Amino acid sequence: MTANDGAVQLDRLIARFQAVASPLRQQLDELHGELARLTGGAVADYIPELARARPEWFGLSVVTLDGQVCEVGDTQQAFTIQSISKPLVYGMALDHLGLDEVLRRVGVEPTGDPFNAVMVDERSCRPHNPMVNAGAIAASDLIPGAGPTERLHALLETFRRYTGRAVTIDGAVFTSERETGHRNRAIAHLMRNFGMLSPRLEESLDLYFQQCAILVTSRDLATIAATLANGGVNPVTGEQAIATAHVRHVLSVMYSCGMYDSAGEWAFEVGLPAKSGVAGGIMAVVPGQGGIGVFSPPLDRSGNSVRGVAACRALTRRYDLHLLSGTSRSTGLRDAARRG
Ligand code: GLU
Repeated sequence: MTANDGAVQLDRLIARFQAVASPLRQQLDELHGELARLTGGAVADYIPELARARPEWFGLSVVTLDGQVCEVGDTQQAFTIQSISKPLVYGMALDHLGLDEVLRRVGVEPTGDPFNAVMVDERSCRPHNPMVNAGAIAASDLIPGAGPTERLHALLETFRRYTGRAVTIDGAVFTSERETGHRNRAIAHLMRNFGMLSPRLEESLDLYFQQCAILVTSRDLATIAATLANGGVNPVTGEQAIATAHVRHVLSVMYSCGMYDSAGEWAFEVGLPAKSGVAGGIMAVVPGQGGIGVFSPPLDRSGNSVRGVAACRALTRRYDLHLLSGTSRSTGLRDAARRG
């Protein structure tokens, strides 16, 4: 470690210490207390491992672009990332093959159909987008590597760069998902029939089930979101997790397709690129500012965490985060007009 590394780490430590007593921390405390009382929703139970989650678990984390962490509640409770892995793996495919090649395999159109529909776009034979299972399995198929071990290593290494720590897989969840994943298997075979999936279908399905079973915390989700908010650079470690040029593609599909059947309502009300998962996680990206990570297992009818949605709605209102609010703090266009 150089002296400079030491100074940077000290700066981050001081920033974190300050965040403990910040107005945001106070706001999160209040919000957590208020939303902890919400009782609606149901914990996912399609596999027994998820059904064991406690409905009262509730972690709320925010990571800012200067590396500050503000959080409250069960922020160290591990849970499986599930569908929140989808944008990260889409980003891996983009980094590996480039936009044009990935667009030939996966579209970017929202669908009004369930996330696990056994279908592809009939005209192009592509899955509609990378946030539904078909598109996510197609993206997993594009994870580079010579065999399953090398490809799994590439997957975990990418997640490590986003979270800033080595991540592991919940073996029981992976095994259950794999044993009961008949629908996902049907989707994969449909795509194989259209020539849109490689012959290593079984291996890619395993990778898909493994990516869903990666264990994270609400702080990890906030750090991943902050990395996407920061042009692909993890603001805590300074490591690049995805090429800056590809961040906009990932955020665009999150914005239009990230929240299951409530994606339109979410874009309308919250106005942030986001992704949720069946274990109760939600990550929301505030470009140029930071990331929000929420974990609370009870899900609404669309499959999104009840407290997670409520927390993001409250934060977007409180801090005017909606990207299309017309009060954006970005000054590039204004500055350019002035210079002209
Ligand atoms: N493993 C789940 C599936 O493929 C992901 C569910 C989700 O979080 O949307 O069905």
